[in-house]
Amino acid sequence: MENKKVITVTSPLLPSLEDFMPYLQDIWDRKWLTNNGHYHKELEKALCEYLKVPYISLFTNGTLPLMCALQALRITGEVITTPYSFVATTHSLWWNGIKPVFVDIDPVTGNIDPDKIEAAITPRTTAIMPVHVYGNPCDTQRIQEIADKYGLKVIYDAAHAFGVEVNGESVLNAGDMSTLSFHATKVYNTIEGGALICHDEKTKQRIDYLKNFGFAGETTVIAPGINGKMDEVRAAYGLLNLKQVDAAIEARHQVAVRYREALRDVKGICVMEDIPGVRHNYAYFPIFIDAEEYGMTRDELYFKMKEQDVLGRRYFYPLISEFSTYRGLESARPENLPVSHQMADSVICLPMYHNLSAGDIERIIEQIVK
Ligand SMILES: *Cc1c(COP(=O)(O)O)cnc(C)c1O
Repeated sequence: MENKKVITVTSPLLPSLEDFMPYLQDIWDRKWLTNNGHYHKELEKALCEYLKVPYISLFTNGTLPLMCALQALRITGEVITTPYSFVATTHSLWWNGIKPVFVDIDPVTGNIDPDKIEAAITPRTTAIMPVHVYGNPCDTQRIQEIADKYGLKVIYDAAHAFGVEVNGESVLNAGDMSTLSFHATKVYNTIEGGALICHDEKTKQRIDYLKNFGFAGETTVIAPGINGKMDEVRAAYGLLNLKQVDAAIEARHQVAVRYREALRDVKGICVMEDIPGVRHNYAYFPIFIDAEEYGMTRDELYFKMKEQDVLGRRYFYPLISEFSTYRGLESARPENLPVSHQMADSVICLPMYHNLSAGDIERIIEQIVK
């Protein structure tokens, strides 16, 4: 048997070590390693420009901004959210003592279905936490209308939506706040890292206190904050990666173009297409398998690919509502979430990264096209 290399589901965008060295030297010379240092400030400025957002606070990962957004907006009681996401979305509610209320998703985008939000609102509801799944923008207008009608806050988990725009406007400006993850597996990474986007200076100030234990001065603590600060090494790394992220997104785009061309007409396979007016970031390439039409279940295909060293990922499976912490909740009942279950049971995310070779793409496609 041929010994082919393993094709992983993702591969990180890395700055060249040669480019990184002078930054490290400078950090060593400055001897200021964290707490809003030089590169931290530079990266906040550069990201505001790149992402077209007014205020951004950097974090050490993408989970703490979710937790701090809930603190900053003083969210309590119940929050309406989606089960079709990474567990961190719901965990952030749990860590704040908030009850998650799951609402089903839209089968086209995979995002929370605005038509089903109102029925889930109770007197205890204080906010909505949607996710732009795979970077597909949520129906932010409809969600805002509902939020305004009931006096709710909206926090978007935009971990997948780095650089995503709708008609030239950043999707990160929707709602009260949006969070990003710069984890190594994301389109743009700082190894570990994240950010919280808000719309005014006062709120940014509060977020910056919260991510530094609540310190507002040498001896003043204004709230029970946490340590969420990004360090100088990762901020410098982030500045370098920002310079190449557009090229990486374009390379991902070309992978998506080839996948779609090869797979869109395969019986029993469904791919997601670009949405008109949207600047996509091609963070993921999910396909959905109709077992009856395709003649093989999702898991059969997934394990067959794995045997050939082509690693997909069942993302998101299982649903968050199926994990032991949450499955006892009334809103976690499968009857309440039929579309979510259907998507979770049929999805495979194909390998997707900026330097996926043409040969590897064809090898992946061969596994699926019979
Ligand atoms: C990656 C991710 C997170 C968590 O980000 P970390 O940086 O890993 O803490 C949160 N939500 C979603 C949807 C994610 O994909």
